[in-house]
Amino acid sequence: MKQCRFCGGELHEQLTTFLHEHNGQVRVIRHVPALVCEQCGEKEYTQETTHQILTFLKQPSLPAEILQVPAYDMAA
Ligand SMILES: [Zn+2]
Repeated sequence: MKQCRFCGGELHEQLTTFLHEHNGQVRVIRHVPALVCEQCGEKEYTQETTHQILTFLKQPSLPAEILQVPAYDMAA
């Protein structure tokens, strides 16, 4: 079993939601496989997955869905 490099917790493979923000535009990629720490929630992606994410962000395909999400401001 792989261990979290931050807290030493156990990593489990899960499908996660990847969030990316660039110039105020937020993109969501669903069902991204990652190793997730059961203690602190830190996510680790394989090189292959990281490569796929980066390729996708450079040239996104048509979105499966357009989401409407609530946004909060801690400074407010
Ligand atoms: Zn951890």
